[in-house]
Amino acid sequence: MNKPTILVVEDEPSIAEVVSLYLKRAGYQVTIINDGQSALDWLQLNTPDLVVLDLMLPYVDGLEITRWLRSRNDTPIIMLTARREETDRILGLEMGADDYVVKPFSARELVSRVKAVLRRTSGGASAGGEQALTFDNLSIDPRTRLVTVNGEEKMLTAREFDLLLVLARHPRQVFNREQLLDQVWGVNEYIDPSTVTVHIRRLREKLEPDPSTPRHIQTVWGVGYKFEP
Ligand code: CA
Repeated sequence: MNKPTILVVEDEPSIAEVVSLYLKRAGYQVTIINDGQSALDWLQLNTPDLVVLDLMLPYVDGLEITRWLRSRNDTPIIMLTARREETDRILGLEMGADDYVVKPFSARELVSRVKAVLRRTSGGASAGGEQALTFDNLSIDPRTRLVTVNGEEKMLTAREFDLLLVLARHPRQVFNREQLLDQVWGVNEYIDPSTVTVHIRRLREKLEPDPSTPRHIQTVWGVGYKFEP
């Protein structure tokens, strides 16, 4: 079996080295590139299984690379960001990055995120010929990751979309928060279950005409959530 290949774009040699070491130990093949322009050049010729992408880079920054990559394919991206780069982080997710890790991070944490993203994106989530899911006024297209309500496009973050998709693919099935964390975020000790609650609330605000009496994204008291078609 071929090892999955990971491109690490990071201009700080000490971070690039540690990340590379841990990823190799976890069984991945790793390429390190130190600046944005060289990363673009490399990506013209190669398609890695995943990109670990620092946001602040010389010549071409991580947001530019994310935009460029998304215009061509859906190679998974995990962004590395500093705490102060919060707006960039949100922009990055909206442009289609799959996840982010805030510096300083532990290499162990990054490896577990890489595993989770790869599991999610290779487990049929690349959604070859999958049709859009349509429920009355709501349409969810796994291929384009486009969500519309009454024909109007709604801007969801990558996580919000994944969460909605898990629920909508299993209408009326009740999920508890741990199951949703596992399916959407990957098993990860660093994530608080209340994260799910927050994302459910945001989804309702974006998709439900009356978020306080949701039509599709329903709470099952004492258990979790379900999607009502
Ligand atoms: Ca940097």
